[in-house]
Formats: sequence, C-alpha cells, structure tokens
Amino acid sequence: MDAEAFRRHGYALVDWIAAYLSGVERHPVLSPNTPGAVRDALPATPPETGLPFEETLREFERVILPGITHWNHPGFFAYFAISGSAAGVLAEFLSAALNVQAMLWRTSPAATELEQVTLDWLRQLLGLPAGFEGVIYDTASIASLHALAAARHVAVPDVRTRGLRVRDDLGPLRVYASEQAHSSIDKAVMTLGLGHDALVRIPVDADFRMRPGALREAVAGDRARGATPLAVVATVGTTSTTSVDPVGPIARIAGDERIWLHVDAAYAGAAALVPETCDVLAGCGEADSLVVNPHKWLFVPFDLSAFYCRRMDTVRAAFSLTPDYLRTPEAGAVRNLMDTGVQLGRRFRSLKLWAVLRHFGSDGIRDRLAGHTRPAPQFAGLGGRRPHLQWTAAGPRARLAEPMRLARQFAAWVDESPHFERLAPVPFSVVCFRAAPRGSARGQHMGAESVSDNAATDNVAAEVAGSAAAELDALNERLLEAVNATGEVFLSHTRLRGRFAIRLAVGHVRTEERHVRRAWELFNDKLRAL
Ligand code: PLP
Repeated sequence: MDAEAFRRHGYALVDWIAAYLSGVERHPVLSPNTPGAVRDALPATPPETGLPFEETLREFERVILPGITHWNHPGFFAYFAISGSAAGVLAEFLSAALNVQAMLWRTSPAATELEQVTLDWLRQLLGLPAGFEGVIYDTASIASLHALAAARHVAVPDVRTRGLRVRDDLGPLRVYASEQAHSSIDKAVMTLGLGHDALVRIPVDADFRMRPGALREAVAGDRARGATPLAVVATVGTTSTTSVDPVGPIARIAGDERIWLHVDAAYAGAAALVPETCDVLAGCGEADSLVVNPHKWLFVPFDLSAFYCRRMDTVRAAFSLTPDYLRTPEAGAVRNLMDTGVQLGRRFRSLKLWAVLRHFGSDGIRDRLAGHTRPAPQFAGLGGRRPHLQWTAAGPRARLAEPMRLARQFAAWVDESPHFERLAPVPFSVVCFRAAPRGSARGQHMGAESVSDNAATDNVAAEVAGSAAAELDALNERLLEAVNATGEVFLSHTRLRGRFAIRLAVGHVRTEERHVRRAWELFNDKLRAL
C-alpha cells in the first residue's frame, strides 16, 4: 500500500470509525451471532490472493461486525463498562503506526519516559504518595501477578534460583484476599506455583467488605500451623458489588505481620478523581503495590493497566535478566522497562494515556475559561486540598461522576419498586438487584431466617425456602435473558450469598439517563410478560 493509497483508506477508515462511534446505537449491543458464525463465514485455509482494502473493509462489515458485542453501546451495562475516548482511539492509531517496542530505553526513549511521566501524572491525580513508581501492563490480572511475584521474592529470597520445590525450610505459603476478590488473584497464585490452596479467602461483612479481624486470625492461625504468610490483597471496588475493603486496618495488619499488601483498585481507583469519592484510596499509601485500570473508567481504550509499587526494585530483582544482546551502555543511567516484568517487548501504551490526559486537560481549561468549572458548593475546598481536582472540574471529573449519579438513580427506582429488590449498597456505579415480586422469597438473601424451637419444622421451612429461592433465581435468569435478547441493553449477573443477582454497571461515556431509564422499563415490561 503506497502512501497515497494509505491516505485514501485511512481517511475512509476514520470516517467509518466516526460514524460508528456516533451511531453505535443502531447495532444490537449484544452480538446476535450463534457460535461459529464468523468462523464459518471465512475460508478455512489462508486466502491465496490479496484483496483491495475496500473489500477487506466490506468483509469486516459483512462478517466481523455482526459478531461484535458493542462495548461502545450506551446500553452496555455488563461487567465493567469501557470508557474509551476518541483521543485514546487516535493515539492507538498513532501507536500502531510508530510500532515501537519499549523494551529498552534506547529502543524508544520517548516510550520509556512518557510512561514514567504519564504514570506520575496519574499518581498525582489519584492522590498516591510520591514513593510509588509506576509501570504499565496490559491488564490488572498481569499487574496482580507481578505484585504477588514480588511478594514471593521477598518471602522466599532464593526463589529465582531454587524455585518452590519441596523444601524443609519453607512452610506452605499463604496469600489472603476477601471472598469477593477477583479471580485474577486465584490465577496469579496458581501461576506462581503456590497452588490454589495457598489462597485463603477471608470472610466479608454485611456490605461485602473484608473483615480485618478475620484476616488477623487467619494469619495468626497459619503462622501457628507453620505456614508462611506471603501477601494480602485488598480490593477497592470488588467485581460483584464494588465494595471497598478497609485498606487502612488491613495495611496495619500487613505492616505488623510484615507481609506484602497489594491493592486491587482496578475498577474503583479512578473514583479518587471525583470529589465525592476522593477518599476511596484512603490507606493505600501504606500498600506495597496497587493497580488501577484506566481502561475501565478513565477514558483510555483497552488495554492499559497502571501498576504502582513502592518497592519496584523488588519487582526488578524478581524479573530482570539481561542477555548480552540487550546490554546497552546507558543501562546504569536509565530505566529499561523490560526489567519490570515477564515480557520483553512492550507496546507504546503510554501514548494513549498521555493523549487522554492531555485532551481532557485542555478541555478542562476551556471549560474553566468559559466559566463552567466552579465546583458545586459541597465540593468547595477540595480543590485546595488536592489542586488537580480543580483541573478536572467540569471535564473528566463531571464525566467520571455521571455514572455514579445514574447508578444511584437506578437504585432509587429499584428501592421504590414492589417488584424488585436491591442486593447490595451502591458505592459507585454498579447496582446489584433482582426481581422479587411480593410473595416470593423476597429478602432472603439478607440471611433473615425465622427461628423456631422445632427442628423438624425448621427442616421443612428450610426446604420450602430453598425451593422458593431456586425458583426466584430461575425467574431472574430468564428475566435477564429476556432483557438482553432485546438488543437494546446488555447486563451481566453475579451471585451474592448464593443468590442470582442481576448487575447493572454504568460507565460508558455515551450512557445517558434515557439509557438507564430504558433498561429499567425493559426489566419491568419483561417481568410482567414472564
Ligand atoms: N480486579 C477487579 C476488581 C476486576 O473487576 C477485574 C475485572 O473486571 C480485574 C481485576 C481483572 O481486570 P483485567 O481484565 O484488567 O485483568
């Protein structure tokens, strides 16, 4: 493709993307494809002759697009929504064109240094202390894997050379996380050779937050049994309900016990930029490491996960290994990103973080010039304490806060309805709820059980309650399927205290109140029809 053809196809593609992003509501949010549809529509053997790019684009529209679940759709309420902005998309384009590998400083000094600068900007925006050094990974799963690898390096200093084969000097290793922690922690523990049994799940309180007392007891019990506590993972914004573990008390326990504290703030870390939730990372300054995902709630297209560590030298000690062909004369004077993890080659991800922070920064300045940035009275003064909050006043800050407002609105509808009930608090932008028509097993998830003196009566009552609860679960599964089948919205589910819970996660930049209202209408309509 010569430069002229690239220009032509590039312009056409940008037009396509612009039309797609502004008209994404024309597509069903959830792909209507049946399994194998894309596979079957493409040749089973590699195409022999090349196609003109126009035709490739036509095949994309005909075959691939129907197989897309549109995370960009404002009715996408599943999992955690993306919030990728146009500035980030353009930066991805640029990054693909530059196509650099940021493994060594000299393989692109800008890629290394921009990563340092943008992560330090983000650190300041999050209100984390200066001692935290950042590095970008693709996902939070990989960030947490590296955190636990560093913790393993501390607890078992010769693990690099001797591994974890059966050793007399080591008891079983233990990692602690709440019952609500993300499955990436399980995977990290398994990947690091600790064995899944090494992960100790700490019980949560009524609001799904880790109970520090139970953590302390678990650590003490393990020590008494000869186990070696390695790390504790606290979550700020759990996947199911977005609950926030009490990081301060957990940090004190980790400090007393001299074990690594990693904070998984993949989703909710970004809320630190919003005045009303600016203390969400309270206590995290005491952590050894923390991950936050700008690709979730900070306008950066997937994938970009920011990992912060107060002991990055330990990460480097665990991973750095320089074969001769990668030795460079400036090694002592610069950081080589390949030293901070498993992978050698690294994409130029910081370019999109930089573009997003730059874009919204200038937007904020424009807003300020237009006189729109005066903080609401309840937020007055916050900017004084953390000046960066002024910078984001009416640009990204308002956009960050909107999903929380919409979620609270939805939660209020649920609370007022005789046909639905809410299953968890709403600290951020996720609502867990279910249909619970009057006369059903409503309220049972709260653990409200009738007490009787008669064991036989109790057994019968438990059986009846059990089957009513199972019926309610089945009703909610059918309801969710029916709503998702409309193609207008897409929600996912979770299980809370054993009960099926529907989960509405607001987060896309294009989601407005009308979309959330439509979701609520659909749930009511479909429930009546079931
Ligand atoms: N941690 C939490 C709390 C999450 O909710 C998720 C995913 O949603 C992850 C980690 C994993 O994120 P990633 O896809 O970046 O690995």
